[in-house]
Formats: sequence, structure tokens, C-alpha cells
Amino acid sequence: MKPLVRHDLAHPDGRRVFVYGSLAGEPELVPSETSTGDIHCRLDILTGDWVAISPKRNVRPLDRERDDERACPICPGGVELPFAYEAVVFENRYPSLVADPPPVEAAGPVRTALGRCEVVVYTQRHAASFGELTPVELGRLLAVWIDRSLELWAVDRHELVLLFENRGAEAGATLSHPHGQIYALDHVPPLPSAKIDAHRRHRKRVGGCLGCEVVARESGSERIVAENRSFVVGVPFAPRWPYEVHVRGRRHGLGRLADLEEHEQIDLLAALRGVALRYDALHGAGTPYLLVTQEAPRGQPDWHVAFEFYPLRRTRTASKIRASVETATGLFLNDVLPEEAAAALRALAVDEPPIGGEHLHRVERAVREHQAVAP
Ligand SMILES: [Zn+2]
Ligand SMILES: [Zn+2]
Repeated sequence: MKPLVRHDLAHPDGRRVFVYGSLAGEPELVPSETSTGDIHCRLDILTGDWVAISPKRNVRPLDRERDDERACPICPGGVELPFAYEAVVFENRYPSLVADPPPVEAAGPVRTALGRCEVVVYTQRHAASFGELTPVELGRLLAVWIDRSLELWAVDRHELVLLFENRGAEAGATLSHPHGQIYALDHVPPLPSAKIDAHRRHRKRVGGCLGCEVVARESGSERIVAENRSFVVGVPFAPRWPYEVHVRGRRHGLGRLADLEEHEQIDLLAALRGVALRYDALHGAGTPYLLVTQEAPRGQPDWHVAFEFYPLRRTRTASKIRASVETATGLFLNDVLPEEAAAALRALAVDEPPIGGEHLHRVERAVREHQAVAP
């Protein structure tokens, strides 16, 4: 694996910026005009679920009206990243959760907004998407994901680390520049909590690992989209979203990104890119989707790392909206037969340049830490 140097910068407003790859000179970072404000979490006592309240997020910039490099804050030279880079992670200027949250007082059950919100910039190329990244860019991005996952899971207070991408305006992305995000949470929200319970119940009542069971059921089924030696790529048995695809590790013990062996890294990248390209081929370039990782929560040996894609289209022109029934009850309505969704995705021919070991990277920390200065 090639070394990928990580340079740690300190933003004048206190946020951390990690520059991966080469870094020329001393970068100048523009101080943030906003603070975290009065972010906090409130408990809905009717459901027992926490809600993160972050009023400042409504002032986030939108580059949609002039969607080009000149207006983009995360292009090289933009207000957020005023220097050349290969891949960058920085703490969100408009976070819902922070490492050092402000104290909170309210007439009701509340907790501080403890956690992390990071932005992962995949490449300095504005006009690209995850599926269009070169093998070198993909290998670099995976090394960045592994680095961040390792570091954020290593914080005891973090109970869940979620890497994700909201792709497209319909998915809530305010920037079109190819990027994803990472949230670290100090508690386990309802859905991951239900999955943890399901794994524990299976171990107790049936014996064995529920993740292994899912892999065995999916592998070779008619819902497979594109299997490879390390990952099962298929439409799940009960998908909530039309054309939903899960990319799940086969090997027991592969619970988190940092567990990936070299050949598994290659297979993962090929699988993820294949799904992204198939969506564009099925529903047109720029098809909006949500992409999330499911890494093993703390103390969960029975867990297979997975990436889940939730596309926001039912057809080329019809959107899938999470409407009343889904939102009010959690019962999802899916009007695409999973077996037919898999067949449609499987039948598509996509151009997939080979990814090899020569494209993989291993992150190394730069010896000297940079102290960025305001211009
Ligand atoms: Zn850009
Ligand atoms: Zn297993």
C-alpha cells in the first residue's frame, strides 16, 4: 500500500481540518462567521427518542443557484478550503453535534449535543461523483474513511459512528461537489438499537451470528446484483426503499472498516462503485440516493460491515418520498418488487475500470502538525 500522509490543521475558529496527501506551504484558513449556537438534544417523551436541535443550520450556504467551481466553498480556493488538496476531512461549520458542546438549559428532558460532524471531500474535482472517481481517488477515499472510523470509534464517549453520503438536492445535499459526512453520536438511536437487539436475540435463541445468516440467505439468491469474493451485493429481502441495495461483508469478523484486508478493500470499492454506476444507468446521471455505513457497534462481535444505498427514485422521473405512513409509523411502502429491482440492476452494463492493490493507501500522520493562520 502507498503511504498517504495526513496533515492536521487547526482552524482559527477551533475546528480541525485533516488534509490527506500533499500539502504545499502553510495554508491560510478563513475564520468561521458562525458559532455552534445553542445546539442541544431534546427527548420526545412519547417515543423515548432523542432529537438534535441545531438552529444555526438554516444559514448554511447553497451553491445550487450557481453550481460551479467559482461559487463552491469546498473547491480548492473556496472559502472553506483555500488550498490545493487530494482529499480532505474537516469539522462541519454548521454542526448538529460537537466534541465540546455548550451547556444546555431547558424546561424538559435535554442533553448536550455531544459528538462529531465531519465533512469528507472525496476529490478536488468539482464535476465528479462517487461512481466517477478514478481508482486512485477511490483507494485514497477508503484510506480516509478507515482513518476517520478508527479515530472516532476510539473515543469512549462515541456509541455510534456513521459514515454517509446524501447525494443530490433531493437527498438534502447543499453542495454538489462530491463529498460525504461522518457523524459520531454519544448514544445509539432506535434503528441501530433494534439491529443490535436482533443480533443478540438470534445468538441466544438460534445460536450463531445473524450477519452470517443474512450473508448465507442473500448469497446466490435471485436478489443478487453483483457478488464478489468478499461482499454480497444485493437487494435485501424486505427493502424499505425501491432499488435499495446492501453491500455486506461475507467474512465473520469483518465488522468495521478497519477490519478490511487488502483484497477486501479492493472488492469493497468495486462493489460500491458498481452500485453507484448502476443507479445512474437506471435512473439517469445524478440519481439522488442516501448511502450509509453500518459498522459494528460497541461490543457486537456478531456484525458484518455493510454499506446501504437508499435511492430516492421509483422511476426515472418519479421520486420516492418518505411520506405520511412511513414517517408517522415506520411502516415503509415499497412499490417495486425486490426481485424485479435486483434483475433490473443486474442487467445493466456499466464501465468499471479495474481497481488493484496499487490503488490502495495507508494513512500516515505527518511528523509536524501545522498551525494554520487567518489571512
Ligand atoms: Zn467544488
Ligand atoms: Zn458472522
